Amino acid sequence: MAEPPFHVAIIGGGLCGLSLAIALTKRSISHTIYEARGSFTEIGAGINLGPNTLEAFRLIDPDIGDAIFSFATRNPGRQKDLWMDVLLGAPTNDFEDAKRIHQMTTAPLDVGCMTVSRNELLQFLAQRIKPENARYNKKLVGLVQSKDEVTLSFEDGSRDTASVVIGCDGAHSVVRRLLLGEHDPAASPKFSQAGVYRAVFPIETFEKLVGKEGAAVSTIRLGPGGYVISYPIDGGKNINLGVWPGNKEVWEHDAWILPNQKPQMLEDLKAWGPTVQKVMRAMSDQTAFWATFHHSTFPESFYHGRVCIIGDSAHAMGPHQGQGASQSMEDACVMAEVLYAATTASSGTSAQRIKAALAGYEHARRPRFEKALRTSSEAFPFWGDLWKPDLSDHEIEAFGRQADERFVWLWHPDIAGQGRRALAEMDRILKT
Ligand SMILES: Cc1cc2nc3c(=O)[nH]c(=O)nc-3n(C[C@H](O)[C@H](O)[C@H](O)COP(=O)(O)OP(=O)(O)OC[C@H]3O[C@@H](n4cnc5c(N)ncnc54)[C@H](O)[C@@H]3O)c2cc1C
Repeated sequence: MAEPPFHVAIIGGGLCGLSLAIALTKRSISHTIYEARGSFTEIGAGINLGPNTLEAFRLIDPDIGDAIFSFATRNPGRQKDLWMDVLLGAPTNDFEDAKRIHQMTTAPLDVGCMTVSRNELLQFLAQRIKPENARYNKKLVGLVQSKDEVTLSFEDGSRDTASVVIGCDGAHSVVRRLLLGEHDPAASPKFSQAGVYRAVFPIETFEKLVGKEGAAVSTIRLGPGGYVISYPIDGGKNINLGVWPGNKEVWEHDAWILPNQKPQMLEDLKAWGPTVQKVMRAMSDQTAFWATFHHSTFPESFYHGRVCIIGDSAHAMGPHQGQGASQSMEDACVMAEVLYAATTASSGTSAQRIKAALAGYEHARRPRFEKALRTSSEAFPFWGDLWKPDLSDHEIEAFGRQADERFVWLWHPDIAGQGRRALAEMDRILKT
């Protein structure tokens, strides 16, 4: 019997799912995005995109990479290649509050801190999705694999079939749980013992709080046990702020966003310096605390048969290196390459080509996204543990060196090379 035509089901229309869909469209691969919500929407304010995101987008579609670079907000004027101005968030025995201790740049890449509003980026991508390729209010609840296809079941009782299923359904992924089994220790993310109080300030307000000089520049303030990050969004009209207190041991709530947390925030950061105190007092009484979750256990494999997980469903990580979305775009880019090869390879059955494609993808991507996840977890104490009352010049210098070194491999990837490694592995598998 003839094999069904090659069709990809993408579960989840977030940043990763839409990036993959665009990459598949570019390669004329038939696909459908199934999104649980009634439209493509994002919550949250600004998102910081590493220089590697641009590289990934340019490989997905050069026009998109260039367009994002032109609408993203960057640091003003001569600070364009600055990633973060690093300041003290509290005075020490020897240094005053808000002392600049380092400047991190992305040089020689002229990218710096590139931010977009999450929903703006999502809508930009959504405009490039063909309406006939999107299904809304389709919450996946089940997957059954057979020799030739996968049957998908949705909460509304409907079903569909596809040759391959790519789970892009975020940190609390259903596809991951279906793939690994509900009770597998790697099936669900765990509380990162961290979270963030978030706010958006008009630039004029922020200037009054932290001073005109530097208000519009992406800044990380390091204080007792945590950090406070601020960067321009909306073309420099607003400042996105994240206040990360020290570790929280447990998370006992069902919800992961708790509103009205200003008193707790002031208590958590009571040992911080006057500048951060002023900023926190200016935040709304409704300020919410967003708990963060990450995958602490890696599964044996990120695919099984015709089903694979990518993006946050594969590697939800803390945003302490600004890499969650960036890694998702790299995934989408390499996945599109192998799926294209699965449609064009002349050897093997469709099932063999799909299995080899997913194996090739995992071979090329896994070492990098696992390292990004691990180092993102390590980055929280890296930022949060520097400050101490007797901080010395020598420690500040060593910190600056380490800060620069820890981003080099993330920001300067060879994504095209990952694609080539994935294809070579796929080829090797199909020939054996
Ligand atoms: C507080 C915070 C700050 C962050 N800051 C940064 C940053 O500065 N830089 C950065 O790179 N990253 C950052 N990230 C991470 C970044 O947001 C994610 O890595 C990125 O959005 C992942 O995209 P995704 O498409 O994989 O998942 P998501 O964006 O979560 O999208 C998943 C989609 O799947 C849908 N879905 C879920 N379940 C189902 C189902 N069963 N059936 C169908 N559809 C389903 C959802 O509705 C959603 O549309 C941050 C994250 C947080 C929480």
